[in-house]
Amino acid sequence: MKVPLLDIDKQYAPLKEELLQAIAAALEVQPVCNGPAVRQLEREIAEYSGCQFGVGVSSGTDGLLCSLMTLEIGDSSGGPRATEADRDEVITTAFTFFATGGAIWRSGARPVFVDIDPVTFNIDPARIEAAITPRTRAIMPVHLYGQVADMDAICEIADRHGLAIIEDAAQAIGAGQGERKAGAFGTAGVFSFYPTKNLGAPGDAGMIVTQDSELAEKLAFFRNHGSAGSYLHTWVGGNFRMDSIQGALISVKLKHLAAWENARREHAAIYNERLAGCEGVTTPVELQGNRHVYNQYVIRSERRDELRAYLSDNGIASAMFYPLGLHQQPCFASLGYKEGDFPLTEQASHEVLALPISHEITEEQIRCTAEAIRAFSA
Ligand SMILES: *Cc1c(COP(=O)(O)O)cnc(C)c1O
Repeated sequence: MKVPLLDIDKQYAPLKEELLQAIAAALEVQPVCNGPAVRQLEREIAEYSGCQFGVGVSSGTDGLLCSLMTLEIGDSSGGPRATEADRDEVITTAFTFFATGGAIWRSGARPVFVDIDPVTFNIDPARIEAAITPRTRAIMPVHLYGQVADMDAICEIADRHGLAIIEDAAQAIGAGQGERKAGAFGTAGVFSFYPTKNLGAPGDAGMIVTQDSELAEKLAFFRNHGSAGSYLHTWVGGNFRMDSIQGALISVKLKHLAAWENARREHAAIYNERLAGCEGVTTPVELQGNRHVYNQYVIRSERRDELRAYLSDNGIASAMFYPLGLHQQPCFASLGYKEGDFPLTEQASHEVLALPISHEITEEQIRCTAEAIRAFSA
């Protein structure tokens, strides 16, 4: 049996008519860029995540950059260029998709990496405090794989030091912790609608959410070259606009998201059950009080590369998210990190393996994948 990581065609087939109608309707209404369909999606996503405001943007990456620029962190929003000694700093996890560190770098701020909690793979709040300096402006936690980072602890540290929080919730729309949802804890939260995310557009799009009306208004200026209109530019923003066709398509899919999340959670539970007690394999842990939405279902194995090859020989796809810590990326060499600085991140980068998961994966495909892992481990 072939088991792909994600079967996007299967997701589109049942929605095809509705999606085509949404495109046709979006084309009828001007402007097609950043138009009424985007305003509607902003309201819907804000409501879905328990936030007051949504600001549609061109991608999750641009949402992170736009948030940093709008908070005037770094030096890309029009102020004087910082020297190395007075460069703003933003603390984030060493174990995440590149975009998190890339956005901080592009804002002109210095990314400061911190090691992870090896159980959840999320930033370890106990290590944040030691990374704070007089130049620290913000913390950017990532809700990796769809589980919210320890936000009680992170918010407490941020409050005490007067730091902003920008949640990288790209993988975690709909995820919860206690009473709140991903994106609703920080100064701003950022979602991605990249096709492989739980709410995937057919192209690139993203959304910034916030509870702060002034910030929402300023974010909307930054999305459009830092202008409040009349070709007058108070700041240097960017072209971070979302196009209305993506907005309309995401609205169609959003109606199904809650059901899709439940399906993912059920699929994760089947994996957990089928892999329980499997020698050499650690299944994901959902901490109490969290609602994990399993954008990825990630196991650990000390023989990860062999296991991956074995699954591939059996027609089963898998992926490594992520094979290298951000501190080891060549483009960040000038930050001065070296191998061994973040041992838990480095260990995870050698052990993690993402298995096929989606709302439409069949029980048989999950069974087949779990059996192959058991056969390898026996
Ligand atoms: C996908 C992702 C992003 C970037 O989102 P895009 O929409 O692809 O730009 C940022 N951070 C994390 C953790 C992601 O998984």
